[in-house]
Amino acid sequence: MASGQQAFLIITILIIGPISNVFAQSIFQIYPENLISDDRKALADDDGLFCDSWRLSVETNNAGVWYTIPTRCISQVQDYMTGDKYRSDSKVVAGDSLAFAKTVEIAGDGLDAWVFDIDETLLTNLPYYADNGFGSESFNETAFDEWVDLAEAPALPSSLSLYKELQQLGFKIVLLTGRGEYQRNTTEKNLLFAGYSNWERLFLRGASDQGKPAIVYKSEKRSELINEGYTIHGSSGDQWSDLLGFALAQRSFKLPNPMYYIP
Ligand SMILES: [Mg+2]
Repeated sequence: MASGQQAFLIITILIIGPISNVFAQSIFQIYPENLISDDRKALADDDGLFCDSWRLSVETNNAGVWYTIPTRCISQVQDYMTGDKYRSDSKVVAGDSLAFAKTVEIAGDGLDAWVFDIDETLLTNLPYYADNGFGSESFNETAFDEWVDLAEAPALPSSLSLYKELQQLGFKIVLLTGRGEYQRNTTEKNLLFAGYSNWERLFLRGASDQGKPAIVYKSEKRSELINEGYTIHGSSGDQWSDLLGFALAQRSFKLPNPMYYIP
């Protein structure tokens, strides 16, 4: 090889070498399966990364049935629920819901319905969960009922705005909650306290609904509405059991809730 060619080759290696190294590193970040084993272990041990991924799994319904949040995620769930991210996520859901609602042709016959769940949808029980481990403790029905009886759960602000905007668009608001019929008065009192009014219907679990999975109970109530002539244009809930099953809304909107799961 001539000395000129050798010099060109050396210069090329000096220039291309670092660039290809940077390129390779960026590929490793995009395709984590290329990580060497120590890096993979670090990824698995990173609570922040794991808990973000766990939350995504919960919100997409990939996680399936779960009972309490992972112990390693308590502080992340606390940070999420009490920080800006929860409010921002909820606001985006409300914005998407309103964008869809504006495309609906309202029949104007008083039968254009939008169904809302209540807990962690219209109202937030964050004050209760903040005192009870943010979902890390097993559900205590007695303690939760005592909190419900106070009737002071605040509104989720983006849901309150959506609720009022839907009413202005001409939707009839139907409330469908897993709370029991015995909690009707305190639930109505709390809704009014939080700023909600003029709902069309409030469904609570009656005697014949006890023991049914939420997904069945809620589907049956939506079915009743449809049999009465209502069109369910939209549905909003923090649980997939609010939104799946049968007699479904035309569009369903899932609000975030990494604190508990209801089948
Ligand atoms: Mg709920």
